[in-house]
Amino acid sequence: MPPRRRLRCERLILASANAGKLAELEAFPPLAALQLTNLADMRLPSPPEDGADFTANAAIKALAAARLGGLPALGDDSGLEVEALGGRPGIFSARWAGAEQNFTAAMERVLRELRATGDDNRKARFVCALALAWPDGHCETLCACVAGEILPQPRGEGGFGYDAIFRPDGSSGSFAEMSPQQKQAISHRSRALELLARDCLPAPAHI
Ligand code: IMP
Repeated sequence: MPPRRRLRCERLILASANAGKLAELEAFPPLAALQLTNLADMRLPSPPEDGADFTANAAIKALAAARLGGLPALGDDSGLEVEALGGRPGIFSARWAGAEQNFTAAMERVLRELRATGDDNRKARFVCALALAWPDGHCETLCACVAGEILPQPRGEGGFGYDAIFRPDGSSGSFAEMSPQQKQAISHRSRALELLARDCLPAPAHI
């Protein structure tokens, strides 16, 4: 495999309009050391997510922002895969929340569909694909996940999206019951960001 391309400049577009994701990306120290901007700051649109998987959708977001914004861009496509639901909602995680992004309703749908299977299997995982793209069309992608289970009902007030119904393996509570730092220590997004920092971000001395 050819070596990965590394970011050589200090400016980076976070190609997302999701406040929860942006907060977690901005809190990651190797990204916080850069000059970050995002779709809203740059007045850039979110492209249609018509890829076949998380990695393809992350690349679509990053490439569109890099091309339109004229700067390197980082795309994040992520979601919840529930084993007994055949991996759904998966890449449709945001779409299950509807146009109004109602995640109370989306979590209820996961719990309802899981009950309807009659299956005791509550295994699930969060997946995060990241794509770092340049205006010349080059794109590097990375993917990571965290395994856990779906709780019988939502627990906790923190986090975003499906955090309140997901308990990661080895933890007693849901992501929504954790502090941002506790979630950051183990999450799918942090794991993908660690790979990005290792392979594609500038070493601290270059910033
Ligand atoms: P997309 O990547 O824009 O397609 O949206 C992914 C959706 O998955 C988000 O809107 C969230 O609902 C959900 N999601 C992704 N990451 C997380 C997370 O860390 N916690 C909870 N939900 C998440």
